[in-house]
Amino acid sequence: MSDLQQTPNFEDTQRAFAHLSEQELTRAKFLFQAVGNIRLVRIGKALAQLAHFLRIPVGWAIRPTVYSHFCGGEAIAECEETIATLAENQIHTILDYSAEGKEQESDLDDTKLRISKAIDATEDDQRHGFSVFKVSGIASTALLQKVAEDPKHLTNLESMAWDRVKARAGDLCERAASLGTPIFIDAEETWLQNAIDAIALDQMRKHNTHQAVVFNTVQFYRHDRLGYLQSMTRQAAGEGWHFGVKLVRGAYMEKERKRAAERGYPSPIQPDKAATDRDFDAGIRWCLEHLDCVAFCSGSHNEASNALLARHLQEAGISADDPRVWSAQLLGMSDHISFNLAKSGLNVAKYVPFGPIRETIPYLIRRAEENSFVAGQTSRELELIKRELQRRKQTA
Ligand SMILES: Cc1cc2nc3c(=O)[nH]c(=O)nc-3n(C[C@H](O)[C@H](O)[C@H](O)COP(=O)(O)OP(=O)(O)OC[C@H]3O[C@@H](n4cnc5c(N)ncnc54)[C@H](O)[C@@H]3O)c2cc1C
Repeated sequence: MSDLQQTPNFEDTQRAFAHLSEQELTRAKFLFQAVGNIRLVRIGKALAQLAHFLRIPVGWAIRPTVYSHFCGGEAIAECEETIATLAENQIHTILDYSAEGKEQESDLDDTKLRISKAIDATEDDQRHGFSVFKVSGIASTALLQKVAEDPKHLTNLESMAWDRVKARAGDLCERAASLGTPIFIDAEETWLQNAIDAIALDQMRKHNTHQAVVFNTVQFYRHDRLGYLQSMTRQAAGEGWHFGVKLVRGAYMEKERKRAAERGYPSPIQPDKAATDRDFDAGIRWCLEHLDCVAFCSGSHNEASNALLARHLQEAGISADDPRVWSAQLLGMSDHISFNLAKSGLNVAKYVPFGPIRETIPYLIRRAEENSFVAGQTSRELELIKRELQRRKQTA
């Protein structure tokens, strides 16, 4: 059992950025300055979407900038350096094949194969913490939506396609379970999520009998999800399996609100950020109080939530490296959290997205949008990077 080695210090920029050379740090500074400009991000998004749609090669612009900052490489082998650097700092990797929005069956099979290879890469390699997949990567979104909203009225063809989706998800979870690597199922838009939850529930019942192998994801920007977390915990306890859950705030807020307003139904999103924060932190506390049947990963770049996790672990006398408790961040973001939490002895992992540059564009756009901020204010990422550059200059 390992106690928290020390309270995590998120101000320790030396530790947070020790793995980045001066050149890489300077590139990161320019990158966060650029994505901090909302107008520039909007123009970049429109251009990237147009290029993606018209199949115009944009690798020359994207590879040296956003891509190399937020992604590990085009193939798993190219991610090796990133995986090794993270491991040297006690941070585990989560290889994330970031293809989205495929509709053809052959493309869905191909995505499944690539995710399978990422799962295979975890074999006998302790540097990997989890595997991950998005159900929309192995299912058409139209079908997912139909299953989520009207599962009783599928046509024969749709039923057969849905069986194939379940088989793909089943194969991925089976492979992960056979290698002993836990696997996350990412959460997506509300109008798809019931179908994703159904797949996750089947797989958790099957594989989580002794410990959590399959993890569903709960988005706390939804006002109904704390209740879902609690009812799933009770169901797992009642049925005798372990509920694996990744806690996140949620990545599709604008899209959710816009759709709800356009179609005239009540927004599924919390009334404000404070409500999301309150439920996220309540989710952490709930999971810590139910570790007899819950294993969880807090997927967040929020300093207060990560500090709360570390503090509650300590107060509850739970070992910092309890295998049922994890914190995860995305590559290229919040290194001050990942590296300092790992230094304090917590289980930490980072998503390392990989895949052809073209396929990662929707993911990169989300990252850029997430990092854009009100003009005149400096983002936390940028502030810390600048501080570290300054510190290095003074100590040179
Ligand atoms: C390891 C990892 C895995 C992830 N997996 C998923 C996933 O499977 N599915 C998914 O959807 N997202 C996922 N995300 C993204 C995540 O949901 C958030 O978009 C992102 O992490 C920002 O939230 P935060 O907790 O890091 O920090 P913060 O910056 O504190 O929170 C920002 C978030 O708060 C919420 N928010 C902001 N303003 C408001 C408002 N006015 N009202 C209500 N809520 C508001 C939104 O969710 C916003 O993204 C993942 C993130 C990480 C780090």
